[in-house]
Amino acid sequence: MVRVALTIAGSDSGGGAGIQADLKTFQELGVFGTSALTAVTAQNTFGVTAIQPVDTAIIKAQIQAVIEDFDVKAIKTGMLFSTEIIYAVGEAFHWSGIPLVIDPVMIAKGGASLLERQAVEALKTVLVPLAAIVTPNIPEAEVLAGMEIKTNEDIERAAKHIIALGAGAVLIKGGHRKEAPYAEDLFMGADGERFSVRAPWTDTKDTHGTGCTYSAALTAFLANGETAANAVVSAKCFIHAAIEDGLKIGGGHGPTNHWA
Ligand code: PLP
Repeated sequence: MVRVALTIAGSDSGGGAGIQADLKTFQELGVFGTSALTAVTAQNTFGVTAIQPVDTAIIKAQIQAVIEDFDVKAIKTGMLFSTEIIYAVGEAFHWSGIPLVIDPVMIAKGGASLLERQAVEALKTVLVPLAAIVTPNIPEAEVLAGMEIKTNEDIERAAKHIIALGAGAVLIKGGHRKEAPYAEDLFMGADGERFSVRAPWTDTKDTHGTGCTYSAALTAFLANGETAANAVVSAKCFIHAAIEDGLKIGGGHGPTNHWA
């Protein structure tokens, strides 16, 4: 029987990131995708030109409609935009038993802010404690952990800070550390499990939606019953292939390949 996953995220009209990336990734990995839209963005491979948040009552209603009907096996959040939306998501239902992946989306590669600065506190206190896994990149990990990250030891310390916020596990993605020998991500669980996953660097500018696609793949593998650690390894293989196969669509940063 096909498993169901839910993404709570923003729309990317360009189709490479956000809810579109999540649903395409779910489909590719054999999971039935459902969605609750948090914001509409006008964007393409050059960047974001407009953002319209969705009314919080409509966000809650979408989540409730899906949860009440489907046996949802895993959930992810992406762009949440504001404090109000974070509270609405937190209050939408009794979060228990369904693994939640939080991709703490903050700033798009083109520089657009996808999370208001003052909403970081709500993200840390309302949603991170509900997460099975939080998946920050290095700049997002710096904001969540409240520290600068320069070395491998800093990454370890930041991971511990994020676990201390109440997350079940954290996956700090090293894709912004171009000086490192590999694209290496650190997984740390609240239970003390710890390992890194590595891939060779890919020389490409077509990486739009990488973070969304990676966390959606992780969610799909969790929906299919994999453990958090196995899901991370499988998702890393998927995202590496997706980046290697990036699509030359549009004139800017093309999307990662959701058929990878
Ligand atoms: N747009 C939306 C709706 C997103 O959720 C995200 C990422 O999470 C992005 C854009 C950012 O895409 P990128 O920074 O990969 O270009």
